[in-house]
Amino acid sequence: MVKYIFVTGGVLSGLGKGITTASIGLLLKGMGYSVTAIKIDPYVNVDAGTMNPYMHGEVFITDDGGETDLDIGHYERFLETSLSKEHNITTGKIYLEIITKERRGDYLGQTVQIIPHVTDEIKSKIREVAKKTSVDIVLVEIGGTVGDIEGLPFLEAARQMRLEEGPTNSVFVHVVLIPRLSSTGEFKTKPAQHSFQELRRIGIQPDVIVARSDSPIDSNVRKKLALFGNVGIDEVVNSYDVDPVYDVPRLLKEQGLDRALARKLALEYRDPDLGKWLDFVERYKKASKTVSIAMVGKYTALRDSYLSIIEALKHAGAYLGARPNLVWIESSDVEQGKVDPESSIESVDGAVILPGFGVRGVEGKIAVIKALREREKPVLGICFGLQLMVVEFARNVIGLNGAHTTEVDPNTPHPVVDLLESQKTVVARGGSMRLGALPIMIRKGTLAYRVYGAEVVYERHRHRYHINPQYLSKFEEFGFIVSGFSPEGYPEIMELTSQRFYFGTQAHPEFRSRPLNPSPVFVQFLRTALRG
Ligand code: GLN
Repeated sequence: MVKYIFVTGGVLSGLGKGITTASIGLLLKGMGYSVTAIKIDPYVNVDAGTMNPYMHGEVFITDDGGETDLDIGHYERFLETSLSKEHNITTGKIYLEIITKERRGDYLGQTVQIIPHVTDEIKSKIREVAKKTSVDIVLVEIGGTVGDIEGLPFLEAARQMRLEEGPTNSVFVHVVLIPRLSSTGEFKTKPAQHSFQELRRIGIQPDVIVARSDSPIDSNVRKKLALFGNVGIDEVVNSYDVDPVYDVPRLLKEQGLDRALARKLALEYRDPDLGKWLDFVERYKKASKTVSIAMVGKYTALRDSYLSIIEALKHAGAYLGARPNLVWIESSDVEQGKVDPESSIESVDGAVILPGFGVRGVEGKIAVIKALREREKPVLGICFGLQLMVVEFARNVIGLNGAHTTEVDPNTPHPVVDLLESQKTVVARGGSMRLGALPIMIRKGTLAYRVYGAEVVYERHRHRYHINPQYLSKFEEFGFIVSGFSPEGYPEIMELTSQRFYFGTQAHPEFRSRPLNPSPVFVQFLRTALRG
């Protein structure tokens, strides 16, 4: 029989519930149980795809083309598995389903209500994942904070599931922030106490408490949390800030979270085998070489916007024994003349041209790309990054004045990047891009072939525009060749033959990079940057 672990959060959001959930998953997996994870996002958007990454963080793309919350990325990286879009449940998805059913007449004669209709739909979506994956344990992380109005139906559904599944088949893990006053250095549990009360008010008693803090809490704080949270002292664990976050499973295990969960779920306890995982963490910590990488984009104020890219660089870094030092270049600042493109990249060993959409910062990005190309720095362009490398090359090397992507300039005389044929009739914005894992045919004898070592590879995509095939012969003439094609013949990967690593991809290799299995694209990029 499948068991459920519900992870809730108190005090504030952005606590690292996703990392906690993923870490619990890794511990249980290490015990030999099969595990999967679901993220619940109580917002009304159907998926994260229509949200600004500046507010919400990166949109994580799954193999099946889901535009999901970035926590799905944490689960994939920690659990070393690929999840489908069904693992991200939103209020929007639930209501869309219910309203479609209501209009179809499925509830004919009934009054459609939050309880039972909405809660039933939520429970059935969770159980569907359990059934499809046929795992031993399903982790369900409920986004937001206890007490949020929009989270209530999900918490109510979780409360009902506890009743229906039985206490040893469902546990509640409550993650709370324990802030520390800077004036006295004292940890405060009051906000956590309020969140316990809020949980109890809606009928949920936590089984385990994870206390998040910036540094280790003392035993008095722990006792207080146990007392007010109404749990045993062994059921309180402290997850303080560690670097990298991949070290959290070890931290939680050392404090007996694995034992506490096994006890609560009446599971046979086996010492989790984290061997390879711990080796990776050690490699990361011991990495002695430094490599300075420019991150060129327009959402640089919120690093979560580029989370998977940052993680992919860490994975590749640990593999090569190097610690990437990221130098953020805000393309809007370059555009407005606040930052000089030449000097911004002077001391970096390489640069990632980040993905993105829209007009803001584009000319700034192009100016930085030009400086990088002229100095022959290793460059990795991702999606919009590649597209702008193509624009820069068209203008400054081939001499196509005014060349642009039609996304930014619909009237450009040289549309070197243009809307995909399949996108020309698309009107709706949600879930309508070219999405998910798609094949790329790699041309033999190219850098791309050396990187991947295969003729066909699958990478995840999220775009509407593509490199215009009409200009390819011009690009190839100047040595900027296409080394990967889509089955329809669209350019997927381009590289400049005269340089060691001037490489752009329409896909997002970062989404498939894992700590124990780094993306070969990021490894080769970093390896070249390390050579200096
Ligand atoms: N805006 C570009 C497109 O839609 C690039 C998207 C991206 O970088 N993910 O094609």
